[in-house]
Amino acid sequence: MKRKIIILGAGVSGNAVKKLAGVLGDEATIVCDDETELLPPCDLVVVSPGVPPLKSHLYQQAEKSGVELIGELEYAFRACDFPLLAITGTNGKTTTTELTCHLLRKSNVDAVAAGNIGRPLSDVVAEARITGKKPQIVALEVSNFQLEKAPSFAPFAAVLLNLASDHEDRYTGGFDEYCRVKMSIFDRVDAAHRVYGLSFADKPHRITRSGASLCDGDTVLVNTKETALNSPHNQENFAAALELVHLFLGHYPVLPGAVADFHPGAHRLQRVAEIAERLFIDDSKATNPHAVFAALKAMDRPVVLLLGGLDKGMDFSSFESLAAPDIRAVVLFGECRKKMRQHLKGNFPVFDGEMDFVQTLKLAAQASRPGDAVLLSPSCASFDMFKSYGDRGDRFREIALQLTREDFPSEK
Ligand code: ADP
Repeated sequence: MKRKIIILGAGVSGNAVKKLAGVLGDEATIVCDDETELLPPCDLVVVSPGVPPLKSHLYQQAEKSGVELIGELEYAFRACDFPLLAITGTNGKTTTTELTCHLLRKSNVDAVAAGNIGRPLSDVVAEARITGKKPQIVALEVSNFQLEKAPSFAPFAAVLLNLASDHEDRYTGGFDEYCRVKMSIFDRVDAAHRVYGLSFADKPHRITRSGASLCDGDTVLVNTKETALNSPHNQENFAAALELVHLFLGHYPVLPGAVADFHPGAHRLQRVAEIAERLFIDDSKATNPHAVFAALKAMDRPVVLLLGGLDKGMDFSSFESLAAPDIRAVVLFGECRKKMRQHLKGNFPVFDGEMDFVQTLKLAAQASRPGDAVLLSPSCASFDMFKSYGDRGDRFREIALQLTREDFPSEK
């Protein structure tokens, strides 16, 4: 008998569930909070990760209804007959997912990257069923939102890269609940197949870091200086990807050859312009304080830091440690600048670009000195002023390229 499924959310994930439901013979209807008052009768509710449990009336009705409520990941996993390498963490998920897939392909494995990175697992499963061709393995980026209702999700191996403040406004239990959800990635993973990022000093690691080198025991696997992954946070991602590949293949890819043409994606510490001897760096994907500190650790010069945007209930108190001379100045912009301002206590000037990004860049240019970096690493979501983090990064580059000598202080 056909199951009646209600899908909450009409985005990429909801539509992928609908496609998979069609393949599996389920009868699926997509509903959204802004169009539908009452949850229609059904046998199963599948929720998209973007639907916020605390704000969605349909989600809350589903919880009370007694009907089974699962997430997109769970729905896809139940129909998935190929292995998964699951990757989560507060930061580094996309880079590690892309890198894992890249290293596997360089080792002649038919690997696919999916999940939070853009293509839902439901779509990969549906396509495999339609074409009869399944991937050998999927490198799967998994967000907290996807882990929330996934009671049987059991990847072949999983990585938890790091844990820091983010998305606390999603949970009544704040940061503790956020961490519990993240840790649940390991619930049904063999202990030997659980990988922790190098930031977990108390956990065992197959791969360790020695300066710029990643090592397995006494064997140096790769000198990261020969790659585009030489910053401390990308070494963490690289080590995790290598551990995953080793778990799946039983050996490492050929290094450094396999990684020679790999570069982290756009808007992740991307050098976008050099103007008046200042280096403009777009790290718009840094949407929490932990990513900002990773960026600052990777800097080799004083920084004019652009901070701001939309808060996700985050703890900004770590910014109290920012200080000159590493920080030349901070320019705030966007909605949560008042909350951030309270936590800037260092001996550097703080400027307010308000809700005006051109003004923000002009203030940054004025505060900078030759040789500095002007770094957009905003620590917040972008939706208060931009369509996306990508849009914010693109605007940063465009405005930077329009700055002229007159926008910078005159040198005497
Ligand atoms: P995610 O998919 O988890 O958001 P990304 O790889 O897209 O991760 O990177 C997001 C931001 O986090 C970027 O600013 C990037 O420079 C930074 N970042 C990447 N890896 C790490 C890491 N391991 N630790 C801290 N920050 C990181």
